[in-house]
Amino acid sequence: MTDAVRVEHLKKFYGNIKAVEDISFKVEKGEIFALLGPNGAGKTTTIRCLCSLTKPDAGLLEIEGISVIEKPKQARALMGYVAQEIALDKILTGKELLELQSGIYHMPRSSAQARITELINLLDLQDYQDRRTGTYSGGLRRRLDLATGLLHYPKVLILDEPTVGLDIESRKIIWSLLTKIAGDGTTVLLSSHYLEEVDALANRLVIIDKGTVIASGSPTELKQKVGGDRITLKIREFSPLEEVEKAKNILKELPFVEDAIINNAQGNSLNLVINSQTNALSRIEQSLTGNDFPIFSIAQSRPSLDDVYLAATGQTLLDAEIKSSASRDLKLEKKMQMK
Ligand code: ATP
Repeated sequence: MTDAVRVEHLKKFYGNIKAVEDISFKVEKGEIFALLGPNGAGKTTTIRCLCSLTKPDAGLLEIEGISVIEKPKQARALMGYVAQEIALDKILTGKELLELQSGIYHMPRSSAQARITELINLLDLQDYQDRRTGTYSGGLRRRLDLATGLLHYPKVLILDEPTVGLDIESRKIIWSLLTKIAGDGTTVLLSSHYLEEVDALANRLVIIDKGTVIASGSPTELKQKVGGDRITLKIREFSPLEEVEKAKNILKELPFVEDAIINNAQGNSLNLVINSQTNALSRIEQSLTGNDFPIFSIAQSRPSLDDVYLAATGQTLLDAEIKSSASRDLKLEKKMQMK
């Protein structure tokens, strides 16, 4: 069976910035597939290449077996694209905006009206369709974005960070709508840097870091692969790094502790990977108090997707994001100084 999406050895450089170094993945028909990674990992660039909005330097890109590079028009007709930020015409009502968009797709008037009604119902926009979009909340705007992306019956819906900036309630509404859309047979490909979003939604995913794929599989498979339980521990609410380093060195000596990583974004907390040990928590507590360390909080859990990222890169997704935005700020500052 033809894959809904095929990306093989995609490469895209902007000067000497390697936005995408080597990304490959396949999406099966009808599944929800996620590109997970911190800001700057190369998700948007991958999506823009796939939607023929940016020309790649190398690689194969296919939508339903159609080459995006050789037949961009044909490939585009098969996909709906929802960008991260969409500039809505705020004076138009939701329905008027969909009508305008259907004209852009050259849809015949009568079939366009039927499709618009269908999508307004599907996305629960009945009560808002005649309100100007300028009065919409962020969550409503995203629902209208989904309707716009679905107007021309695409086989594959591609979304760049569909819930960025939304509160958790609005995000959950979008998640259930995307599940409904996939249930109706549309393949969904989305990018996200929200771990819980990918965990809740995706059948399969690739984790992207610095323009390459570092892990792929279903959320369950990936979590199982990283093995043992995790213990998250805080010496104090915000601990000095030297103190946590000392605690880390002590805990690493315990026979059941396989790895210990400091999580800077969480007030220098410690993430411990342990092998099966029933009384691990109390043994860690004993070891710390015996060495005069206080304990602010301690908890044991099964591995999460963040642990998958951590195992592959040595840092949490949040730490990676903080570093990426810090380096972006630094570059911006240098640019400003040069002006
Ligand atoms: P975000 O969610 O922040 O957009 P992302 O994972 O989607 O992150 P990309 O936007 O694809 O990442 O960016 C990957 C890298 O390529 C980053 O270092 C970014 O600064 C750089 N980049 C992206 N677009 C351009 C461009 N037009 N010119 C120069 N560099 C770019």
